[in-house]
Amino acid sequence: MGLINFFALASLASIALGSPVPLPDTFRLVVREDRPYNASLPNVTIFATGGTIAGSASSSDQTTGYQAGALGVDILIAAVPQLWNVSNVRGVQVANVGSPSITPEILLNLTQQVQKELDSPYCQGVVITHGTDTLEESSFFVDLTIRSEKPVVFVGAMRPATAISADGPINLLEAVTLAADPDARGRGTMIVLNDRISNAYYTTKSNANSLDTFRAVEQGFLGFFINIKPKFYFAPALPLGKPYFDVMNTTCLPQVDILFGHQVLNPTLASAAVESGAKGLVLAGMGAGGWTTPGDKVIQDVIEKHNTAVVYSRRSMDGYVAPTGTFGYGGGFLNPQKARILMQLALGAGYENAQLKTLFEFDA
Ligand code: ASP
Repeated sequence: MGLINFFALASLASIALGSPVPLPDTFRLVVREDRPYNASLPNVTIFATGGTIAGSASSSDQTTGYQAGALGVDILIAAVPQLWNVSNVRGVQVANVGSPSITPEILLNLTQQVQKELDSPYCQGVVITHGTDTLEESSFFVDLTIRSEKPVVFVGAMRPATAISADGPINLLEAVTLAADPDARGRGTMIVLNDRISNAYYTTKSNANSLDTFRAVEQGFLGFFINIKPKFYFAPALPLGKPYFDVMNTTCLPQVDILFGHQVLNPTLASAAVESGAKGLVLAGMGAGGWTTPGDKVIQDVIEKHNTAVVYSRRSMDGYVAPTGTFGYGGGFLNPQKARILMQLALGAGYENAQLKTLFEFDA
């Protein structure tokens, strides 16, 4: 599609100015010939991982059962020419899968590439396209592993690109506009869908089908879009107790499994998980983290025998799980899927009991 390398252009420009400043290797902005580089606009890099936003169905009324992750990032960008009014964009294809298939290896590769890009003075912000099903996990992971004031924005869609009134194009335009906006700095990793801006730390997918699926009911939204321009409700702020993990040289993460709590739960699933390699367990407990008495007995057992790290979270949509006071850790405000990511990062960083307790129960 006629691509020219902006690296070459920028080098030529700097030589013409008599100051041949070498550009860092990480800067590989590629612009299309028909969209010349606009020096007055910020540079935004779009990392694509797949999902419904890149999904394709056989008819325009099909909004389930389509192939997620079918279209490449160039096609997503080409579908929204308005992107060039707000930024110089380039796309990087990291993966092209439905988000249930995102792995720790993909996440590590993604966050390492994003960090390198943000470290470049030529990049003003990053957008990550992602399936909505596990977007809350990946965005939480990136939030905890990136060190930068620059905006990082996750975006997805609830309707495939081929659907009537597909939401992907406007979501992508809003996400890039946000990533290019200096007012979006210092707010951690954000999520854009359905005209809303939310923070990756607390936000969860609340509805399997509707466009307004992403919510943090207790913590609320960060802002809204009017005429595609972001409007924030508050000055930049980060969640209390948000840790940082350096994973720039990490190649794998330990297995952490989630067990779902319910009446007459099968207590032996905990030992089965540990025997199959889990180094940590997250319990989606009933109410404020409740587990059954026989279930707790097995949990105590695996902790004692295998030193398994166990965090009690909750299957309720919202709420706080207090410190257990005995074995295991209380998961605080984190839902099970976010607690699992935090546990993987902490175990991967070599955290042991006392550090895990402080990490999960920091505000106790
Ligand atoms: N249905 C999903 C989505 O909304 C598919 C996925 O998560 O990849 O993107």
